[in-house]
Amino acid sequence: MRKILSLALALCLALSCVAAFAEAGNTWSATEQGFGGEVTVTLTIEDGVLTDVAIDGPNETPGVGQMAVELMPGMMVNANSVEVDVVSGCTISSTAILTAAKAALEASGQTLGAAAPAEATAAAMTPGTYTGEAYGKWQKGSIEGERFGSPAIIEPTQVAVTVDESSILSVEVVSTSDTPGFTDPCVERIPAAIVENQSIAVDVVTGATLTSRAIINGVTQALEAAGANPADFMKPVPKADAEENYETDIVIIGAGAAGTMAAIEATEAGVDAIVLEKTGKLGGTSVCSTGFAGIQSQQQIEAGVADYTVDSAFRELMDFCKWRANGPLVYNILQVSGANADRLQAYWDQTDDPGITGVGVTAHDTGKGTMKFDVLYDKFLVPAGVNVMLETTARKLIVEDGAVVGVEAEKQDGTKVTVRAKKTLVCTGGFGGNDEMLRKYIGHDNFYLNGLSSNVGDGVNMCLEIGAILSDEVSPHLAEFCSNKKVDFYAGYMKFVNQAGFLALDPSGERFVNEEFFVTQALSYGASALRRVGYAYLVFTQEQLDAMTEKGLYGILSEETIDSLMLRKRILVPSYYTLKDEMEAALEAGEAWKADTLEGLGEAIGFADQEIYKKNIADYLTVLETGEDPLFGKRADMMPSLAEGPYYAVRVISAIDGTYNGIRVNENLQAVNSDYQPIPGLYVAGQDSGGFFSYPYYEGVGWTQGYAWNSGSVAAKHMIAAIQEG
Ligand SMILES: Cc1cc2nc3c(=O)[nH]c(=O)nc-3n(C[C@H](O)[C@H](O)[C@H](O)COP(=O)(O)OP(=O)(O)OC[C@H]3O[C@@H](n4cnc5c(N)ncnc54)[C@H](O)[C@@H]3O)c2cc1C
Repeated sequence: MRKILSLALALCLALSCVAAFAEAGNTWSATEQGFGGEVTVTLTIEDGVLTDVAIDGPNETPGVGQMAVELMPGMMVNANSVEVDVVSGCTISSTAILTAAKAALEASGQTLGAAAPAEATAAAMTPGTYTGEAYGKWQKGSIEGERFGSPAIIEPTQVAVTVDESSILSVEVVSTSDTPGFTDPCVERIPAAIVENQSIAVDVVTGATLTSRAIINGVTQALEAAGANPADFMKPVPKADAEENYETDIVIIGAGAAGTMAAIEATEAGVDAIVLEKTGKLGGTSVCSTGFAGIQSQQQIEAGVADYTVDSAFRELMDFCKWRANGPLVYNILQVSGANADRLQAYWDQTDDPGITGVGVTAHDTGKGTMKFDVLYDKFLVPAGVNVMLETTARKLIVEDGAVVGVEAEKQDGTKVTVRAKKTLVCTGGFGGNDEMLRKYIGHDNFYLNGLSSNVGDGVNMCLEIGAILSDEVSPHLAEFCSNKKVDFYAGYMKFVNQAGFLALDPSGERFVNEEFFVTQALSYGASALRRVGYAYLVFTQEQLDAMTEKGLYGILSEETIDSLMLRKRILVPSYYTLKDEMEAALEAGEAWKADTLEGLGEAIGFADQEIYKKNIADYLTVLETGEDPLFGKRADMMPSLAEGPYYAVRVISAIDGTYNGIRVNENLQAVNSDYQPIPGLYVAGQDSGGFFSYPYYEGVGWTQGYAWNSGSVAAKHMIAAIQEG
């Protein structure tokens, strides 16, 4: 049996297909790659009836893919079919389960009969109110949520569900620690949809999958407590069969910084605008940003940073990128940037949002959160007549006689929306959430995404489909901290371990960078070097792990060194108190290693050629001993000792905020075709558009966010002028 099984598996690996095999008389199994690892589905079939479905997927994400693992067996048994809907928000795991289940059924050679009527299988519930709870975006112990306005101590989202014997009477979200602004659309829509449809198979809110799942998972738990089989409530939710048609001057696709600034321009010019937004909230990735670049705003002039002019910024940026950026575009963006910072502040001054709370040479600090966007829409844009459609995904540009004349979209409930417009602005925030596009356009997907996973390149793809072309340097927007794909280092303090100067080795065991660059030139040198090698091992000692856990970076570097580095406040906290637990989790996941000696550490990691590793360790020990680094030139005050074990190595990859440089645009943000001619009617802004940046990213504060606001502005001004000229 074992032989047949391994032969089948080997054949499948060779053919890259699902592994399917018979296990016993009436059970059949198949295995497919899920989100975190393999999932195996075992079907038990007796006389054309699916009597049992078992799913083994231990590596699927708790609360997300695990819900598909838990719920889909019941759904399949109830339907007597392996063709059931995916569990909303768990598409990858669900699809893997469906594929494996279909393969197992095929291997069985059996045909499944009609399902028994649902009422016949539903278990009666004990009437009453039951509670359930589940973690959402922020997991237990996570410290990152606080920066986005969540409580310091994260509690699971709690729901209260009232039922009678057969139905759900009400669902209430009692409390949640998830991010303010992101939670609102989930709390508004999901409980009501569950009651209305008597189903927990309701759609998650795009852009807030984890918060949505926490509510649904809590309800699932409560239903179980009431005596129900949750699979009985996985009824498909019917899609609307409606159509809506609109005509407008400008249709804006994406309500991030670029789209919002375009809507402001339209409002001020008295031009009609419709904004389509895929998620349930406003602001896109732009709510994650702490600020944006602007040159010579009134606020900067008043703060005495007036020496840095548009001309000097222009020369600095163009020199930095060796003139690979689109000069006229860069100049146009810089020219409006100071005035736009002041314009935005003038709006925020009329609201409770403080807006810009500090300025630097380029920086305009806003702090994170959705409020800065919510107030712009609630107080100014919507009252002025801008039609904003949330949970409405643009799917396809409409082209007539070579010109873009609008867009086809779909609302979350299935309603088809057609917007015909004189001008169309695409600004959907790049494709950081699309691994396939990362592999295709950036070379690999070995990144941890710190931005929105719902930014999957819709805008870029829609433009490419109609003949637009990509800019030369489509790039990952690298972040300065490190992360990992299997263990979420970003939720805790492990992301800061690259800030201490620890030895960094590439996958072959070779030192590849001056480690101080992870701090001193984080994006252009440090993160770019890490991107090049794919992943790195950071090496430190038990004593250093203990010291960081107790005192944060102060446990490793002197105060004088830390002062000279001008680090962000959040790195300089008095203790990285979760670090040891994070290290335990990394060790358990096979993403960290521990050994008593450095030699043992190399063996534990399993470098293919231990000699390369040993030579690099020997060379680096000499660097530490002499305090001189002849090849890389690392500063001596960032060389933590490796004199005494035990030793740790942790695997880190680059984190990205998303991508930048997409569709090639001219200086007015018009998309161009392969003849470099503007495509009539089509503008692209924000991170969907390409030309302002090259690679690596400009060292400096706020350029992507600054570009997003200002590219929306420059594009809209050009569209409006064209519309007004008729
Ligand atoms: C944690 C973090 C911190 C950051 N900090 C900074 C910083 O301090 N300074 C800085 O300059 N930059 C920073 N950035 C980067 C910056 O936030 C982004 O580059 C910028 O917000 C991008 O703006 P955008 O308008 O292009 O895209 P977004 O703000 O992402 O807006 C795009 C919008 O389009 C919507 N959309 C997507 N597809 C569709 C579709 N098919 N139909 C309709 N709508 C769609 C999305 O839901 C989204 O709302 C940070 C990013 C992150 C993740």
